[in-house]
This record gives sequence, structure tokens and C-alpha cells, in this order.
Amino acid sequence: MAGSRRGFGGLAIYAGALLAMVGSPAGASPAAASPTPEARAAARFDAVVHDRAALRLFLRGMPKGGDLHNHLWGAPYAEDFLAWAGADGQCVTTGAQPAIADGPCDGKDKVAARDLGRRDPALYNRAINALSVRNYTPDPAAAASGHDQFFSTFERFAASAVRNGGAMLAVTREYAAGDGVLYVESSTNPNALRAFAVDHQKDWTGDLEASFKALQPGLAAMVEASRREMDADEREADRLQGCGGAARPAAGPCAVVLGYQPFVERAQPAGFAFAQMAAAFALAEADPRFVGVNIVNPEDDPTSLADYSLHMRMFRFLSARHPKVKLALHAGELTLGLVPPRDLTFHIREAVETAGARRIGHGVDIAYEDGAQALLARMARDRVAVEINLTSNDVILGVKGAEHPLALYRKAGVPVVLSTDDEGVSRIDMTNEYLRAATEQGLGYRDLKALARDSLEYAFLPGDSLWTSVGRARVAACVKPGASCDAFLARSPKAAAQQRLETAFEAFERGF
Ligand SMILES: [Zn+2]
Repeated sequence: MAGSRRGFGGLAIYAGALLAMVGSPAGASPAAASPTPEARAAARFDAVVHDRAALRLFLRGMPKGGDLHNHLWGAPYAEDFLAWAGADGQCVTTGAQPAIADGPCDGKDKVAARDLGRRDPALYNRAINALSVRNYTPDPAAAASGHDQFFSTFERFAASAVRNGGAMLAVTREYAAGDGVLYVESSTNPNALRAFAVDHQKDWTGDLEASFKALQPGLAAMVEASRREMDADEREADRLQGCGGAARPAAGPCAVVLGYQPFVERAQPAGFAFAQMAAAFALAEADPRFVGVNIVNPEDDPTSLADYSLHMRMFRFLSARHPKVKLALHAGELTLGLVPPRDLTFHIREAVETAGARRIGHGVDIAYEDGAQALLARMARDRVAVEINLTSNDVILGVKGAEHPLALYRKAGVPVVLSTDDEGVSRIDMTNEYLRAATEQGLGYRDLKALARDSLEYAFLPGDSLWTSVGRARVAACVKPGASCDAFLARSPKAAAQQRLETAFEAFERGF
């Protein structure tokens, strides 16, 4: 079926219309004779699904809800970092893998970043390649194709990222708005949080309780400094995008809602990881903008592997002391050949069962887990959602198409959402991930719409859901529009975002 319509866009549109007509038997009621807006949108999707450009156009306009797996440092494109480096008077190194560096620039090994694109387009282009996976040719012998290139980009733009928190928030909102994404959960650590981990890693004794006690005296000041940093970054993002003033624009970047996830660097020594984790929990409990806690870094790093179970026990320990803090944990971002088989057998399970993760980031190696069927059943029962990052998994792990476990999760009834991971480094956008889900994973319009709705249902936005059954039944207060629904939406940021998505879907589907 897939191949038969390839290359015949006009014919496909005709076939789609024909199918819609066939779906309305003669003598049916007038309601059945005119398909719903959703059915017309689905027919349009079916008509263009084999025409990449037309499908891209369709999906670009489609509302997409939330991006629940997004890293603040991974969202800007290399060109963004190079522009900020120019404005900040920083330099670009001229070696084999150019990087952004602090000044002074010597004009030889470190040249000024300002106007580099006009002055030296060749170096500028090499810098873009070094700060992203653009033009990267995977080593055919490597177990994980773009893994090293991907992770090494972060240190090459770090000098710009650490000083541009506000600008990074702004581009995150800009890219989300362009993609029809209205909510982003971005993993980000205030500099003060990381500094706390650096200063307090020495407090680790190997005993959770004793180490936790030793960390307490410094936490309040860290929380206060982190909040002030985010206040300043948000003010700067608003200034850059003209969001300030009495009436905040109801559309565009200013209308994108951001939630933050402070995170633990799993490749760091245990004392660093525990201090950072304790700080992340304290911040998430104190400031509602920090909606959950995550854990990052390459999962196959020797320290990440050696300390995996210890990290999960640390999460369990801190969750018991901060029961309201939600966890979305990177787990199972691994594949056969990258690590010994034993390391593929338990990471997702421990993230769910030991740490109590509410969402799993990636979950690529699920089919290698011991007791995978029982684990899938538990995730389906407990509504533990998986954040699916199709391009990232392809670039970093070489896992795509039929190798990817998206279908396995869906078949098991585990909730899934599509997300970008590091859109700037991977040089993608959210629309591209929907396109891959359609073309490589076979998802249809209604499947994608359900995923978009789930991206808000499983978001860590506070408040009750708009739905008793997502996409089917609304809560009693909102069965009909009116004062009781307005009051409900005013109380629940989650339901308000869900209502915005429904309104966006109505407008989108009316266009067909
Ligand atoms: Zn990630």
C-alpha cells in the first residue's frame, strides 16, 4: 500500500477524496455524509503521506502540544551560539574541531567570533559542523554512529552557553512556536546549582543519610541563587522577544510555556552526583517553575554504568524526602554492541521500580531488558510514559525504523510522546520528528493527534487534566464551555494548556 501511491501526489489526493466518499454509504444521514473536520484532516494526511514536501507542510501546521524531552543547551543551533559569541566578544578556535572560547583572541589560534561568517566563511562552516552533527560522517566501524560527535559538541559551545541562559530560553520558545508546540519541558541547571555540586561533592561519605545531612546547610542559599538566576534569564528572554509589558502576546514565542528540569550528571563521581541530585530536588520542591528532576550524560560512560544502581537508590532516597517532586529519567539510551549485554538488562526497570520515574527518556533498549513483557505491562498499568526521540536515537545509537521500539511500546499500551531531545545539535525540529513517526513508524493522523494530546497529559504541568479519558471524555466541569469550565481552567495550568491544544486542533482541522 505504501509504495503504490509514491510519486503520484495528485492521484493520492484524488484517492483520499474517493476514500472519504466511499466511507459515506448512499442513504446515510446528512451528518455521516459530511465527514467531521478531524476525518477531513486525516484524509488530507493520508493523501500526502507519501509526498514528503506536502507532508512536511501539513505537519508543520499541525498543533503538537508539548515537547517533554528537551535540553536547554541542545536546543540552540550552532549559528545561534556563534552569533552570541560574536556579541559577547568571544573567539572561535581554528583547530581541526573549532570551538567557542573566551577572549582575548590572538587572531591566529583563536579568532574573533564577531562577523566570522562574512570574514572567513570556511572557518565559520567548519565551526558549525564542529558544534553540531551537520555533515558528520559516521565511522562505519563504530558501534554507535554519531555518539562521540554528538556528545563532544557540548564542550565546544559551553563557553557561550554558560553566559546566555536568557537567549537560550528565547530560542527554545522561538523554535517551539514555529512548530506548533505550546509547552516545553527543558532540562537546565542554574549555574548556582552546578557550583553547589562542585563545592559539596566532598560531603559524600558513601552513606546516604549522613551525606544528605551534611549537604543541608548550603541548600537554601543555592535555591535562592538559582531562583534569582532563572528570574534574570526569564526577564532577558522576555526582553529579547518583546514579551514584557501589560498584555503578554497570546501567540508566538511569548505564549510558549516553559517548565524546567534540573538534572544530575551521571558521568560525574558519586559525591558530585548526590550533591547535584539533592540540590535538584530542593530546587524543584521550592520553585514551581522547576517541574521535575532528570539525569543526563552518556549512559554508556564507564562511571554512568558503574554507578547506575547507586544513582537509582539515591533517587529513591531523595524521593522519600521530597515526595512531590516528579522524575523523568533518561534510561535505556543504549543498544547492542555499545555496552556488554548485561548493561542492557535492567536500566529501565530500575528507573521505574527503584527510582519511581514517572516518565522514561528514550527507553531504546527495552527489548533487551530482563522481564521486558512484565515491565511493559507495569508501565502501561502505571501510565509511565516514554519520551521518544527518533532522530536522536538514529544519530547517537544508529537505531531507527523497524529497529526502534516505538511500536513495541504502543502495542503494549505504554503511553508515548514525541520529543526533540537536542534539536540544535541534531539540526532538526519537532515537525521533523512527527514526519519520521509518520514515514518510518507508520503512524497516521489520529495516532499523531493522540500523541500530541498525551504530550500534555503526561507533562509535569501542575493541576488536574482536562480529560477523564484523553481525547474521549472531558471532566464534568468542561463538558460544555462556560463559567464552571473557565474556573477549572484558571485553577489548572495543565488543563489550560490542554484546552489551548484543543482550540488549536479545531482551527487546524477547519482548514480542510
Ligand atoms: Zn536527552
